[in-house]
Amino acid sequence: MSARRSSVITTIQVDADVEEVACDGGGAYGHPLVYLPFGKKDTVVCYYCGRRFQRRSSKLPERKAH
Ligand SMILES: [Zn+2]
Repeated sequence: MSARRSSVITTIQVDADVEEVACDGGGAYGHPLVYLPFGKKDTVVCYYCGRRFQRRSSKLPERKAH
């Protein structure tokens, strides 16, 4: 067994009003272009390369009351 060091997670911030992001992996670790909709979430993770996209909140942070 060889020890892997693949725990580097890239977080990419996008504008708060972005509804979906396109990811192709970028660079040498590219993958087919996919579109990742945020839906109701503020973060989405690419299922190809594991990049995390996070929407910047331009408003004051508001807590969701259940
Ligand atoms: Zn990706």
